[in-house]
Amino acid sequence: MLPSFRADLHCHTTCSDGSLTPEEIIRLAISTGLSGLSITDHDSIAAYAKAAPLANELGIPLISGVEFSASFEGVGIHLLAYAFPLDSGVILEFCQQHAQRRIARNRAIMEKLDEYGFFIKEEDVYSLVGSSDAQKSWGRPHIAQAMVKKGYVKDAAEAFYKYIGEGKCAYTAGKTFSVQETLEVIHAAKGLAVLAHPMLIEKKRLVKELLRMPLDGIEAYYSRLPLDQQQPWIEIGKNRGWLVTGGSDFHGDAKPHITLGCSWVGEEVFHQLQRHALHVLS
Ligand code: AMP
Ligand code: ZN
Ligand code: FE
Ligand code: FE
Repeated sequence: MLPSFRADLHCHTTCSDGSLTPEEIIRLAISTGLSGLSITDHDSIAAYAKAAPLANELGIPLISGVEFSASFEGVGIHLLAYAFPLDSGVILEFCQQHAQRRIARNRAIMEKLDEYGFFIKEEDVYSLVGSSDAQKSWGRPHIAQAMVKKGYVKDAAEAFYKYIGEGKCAYTAGKTFSVQETLEVIHAAKGLAVLAHPMLIEKKRLVKELLRMPLDGIEAYYSRLPLDQQQPWIEIGKNRGWLVTGGSDFHGDAKPHITLGCSWVGEEVFHQLQRHALHVLS
């Protein structure tokens, strides 16, 4: 039987590459019976402008969150930040820098795609997969969707697998921020830094090195990991005295097999985050 308190600490909205708006995700969290939520868009906290007042009105506890893209020895790593003040200048400035990085990186990827005969323009991405929204964290999933709509590939998975996945022919990392500097930003903003889905990092040596970094938590409960394989990650977190967090990584239609709340944390971890958030606000 499911415990009565479940909080999903990892999900995406239309402010990055999710398919539900911030308001829709708050309503879905309530109708799913979740007791708490954190929205963790890629490199953006724009969702909170709409999500925070609605969550407050409807009475579902919402913890601030964001999933930062970082680079470690050339490999893309995701770091979750939680429980920082939503008006943190440090976080807002860093999100702004990421937005600029993304624009340049996306353009460079589209230029490379051009060389392979795939003509995807910025306007295509905007008009095919959503309006041009300066607040939105555009990325490869949107380019992949535009490629599908133009009939260049049968689905997004093919776009990533053949062309725009890390190391593939039309991929370029562009400017990146290191794990170290991302951790510094999160801590300067008084947030808590959590290593996202460590089980997805293929090079185990990198995981070992990342686990020596000044993290506050590890995402051990993750939708793509069978229950019996979560235990080692839980142990790692416990041994270091870190927060052992979890979430679904819900993206809506973009990843239909992952439902909101299919991976969650209990009351204790959620309340620890809530207490931290209250503490940094006081
Ligand atoms: P970006 O942040 O623009 O570099 O895009 C990375 C995002 O693309 C990831 O966070 C995933 O949400 C998504 N993604 C990565 N690999 C795939 C894949 N093989 N198929 C579909 N989506 C993917
Ligand atoms: Zn994503
Ligand atoms: Fe991620
Ligand atoms: Fe994610």
